[in-house]
Amino acid sequence: MAVPQNRTTRSRRDMRRSHDALVAANPAECPNCGELKRPHHVCGACGHYDSREVIAQAAVAADDDAA
Ligand SMILES: [Zn+2]
Repeated sequence: MAVPQNRTTRSRRDMRRSHDALVAANPAECPNCGELKRPHHVCGACGHYDSREVIAQAAVAADDDAA
């Protein structure tokens, strides 16, 4: 098993973790139904993208995590 030769200092550890913060989601309003949706993603509420329906309404509820 590999073992670190040197102790990671608090400074080095914290510098590494400076990029670990989670960023807030940036929801955008769906132009079709007004629901908040992720940018550049199909709307989970109405299945529209780029002002047209790309997912039939009945299929939206069946696999809502696929979008
Ligand atoms: Zn929508």
